[in-house]
Amino acid sequence: MKEFQLIESFFTGRAQSRKDVVVGIGDDCAIVQPADNKSIAISCDTLVENVHFFPDMPAADLGYKSLAVNLSDLASMGAEPAWMTLALTLPEVDETWLAEFSSGLFDIAEYYGVALIGGDTTRGPRSITITINGQLPNNIGLTRSGAKNGDWIYVTGTLGDSALGLDLLRNKAEANAEDRAYLIQRHYRPTPRVLAGQSLRNIASSAIDISDGIMSDIQHVLKASNVGAVINVDNIPLSEPLKASVSPEMALSYALTGGEDYELLFTVNEAQKGMLEVALAESGVKFTQIGQVCTGGQLKLLSDNKPFEPINLGFEHFN
Ligand code: ADP
Ligand code: MG
Repeated sequence: MKEFQLIESFFTGRAQSRKDVVVGIGDDCAIVQPADNKSIAISCDTLVENVHFFPDMPAADLGYKSLAVNLSDLASMGAEPAWMTLALTLPEVDETWLAEFSSGLFDIAEYYGVALIGGDTTRGPRSITITINGQLPNNIGLTRSGAKNGDWIYVTGTLGDSALGLDLLRNKAEANAEDRAYLIQRHYRPTPRVLAGQSLRNIASSAIDISDGIMSDIQHVLKASNVGAVINVDNIPLSEPLKASVSPEMALSYALTGGEDYELLFTVNEAQKGMLEVALAESGVKFTQIGQVCTGGQLKLLSDNKPFEPINLGFEHFN
């Protein structure tokens, strides 16, 4: 199968159309028409075999995750997903693999209304790069730099599931069948908090998505905002499957240092707290207050009001 046939069979066919795509797949460039008064948010993420995923990762999950991690970046800025390009490097043309990969990709693309507008297909060690484009009304985006002394710190969802899911796949941990399936699903199919991010646009003072683990990612907010933070680790939200599978200390370590949760971490001024309840209730996303922004630039972890040090699980992050 030639490159153009491959694109035609697996990608052009299912590529969703949007009215704002003037020229889609098939020409030298795609052309899109952004809405009036909207600015474009752009991000890209690459997944490389043996670095970000194992060779035996189900292709449909890989297609799903490739877009999910990109959507998570849009979510953290409060942008509305619109268009993507896909750069696919594959060692060979495996039609079964491609059919599954594209079905996982288009499942999530259709759910969030993302149109595939172009890409590139090359031969080499397997890797997937998606460039995602979203729209922001009137330049209002959430950034990492707006956190202020006294703001409350929140996270969406639960933390640590994905990292334990990875350790289950690596046979470094054990869980019962039901919990195992849940945790691996959280690793393979993270939920980008797209609607929550948009709801937070006029409410949060800063936001970031948690890709490398909260202890690592919060540092980006503290540095960009020139503030410090106190986190009460007793309030870190943990799922039942995580708590059921490892000790309380390990569960917290997965949650604090594990990574790939793709939940949002955000800060909210005291005066905006009421609005937060309403906004996030509408998007149906659970959120938990875990700490407060302070001066001084340091991150302090407390448990029972005493300094807390998580167990080092030795996760390395390349993303
Ligand atoms: P060029 O050589 O001009 O860069 P290509 O032959 O690489 O063009 O691609 C032809 C068309 O197919 C372009 O519109 C390109 O955006 C699109 N395309 C190539 N690979 C993919 C892919 N994996 N997914 C979606 N569109 C793709
Ligand atoms: Mg090309």
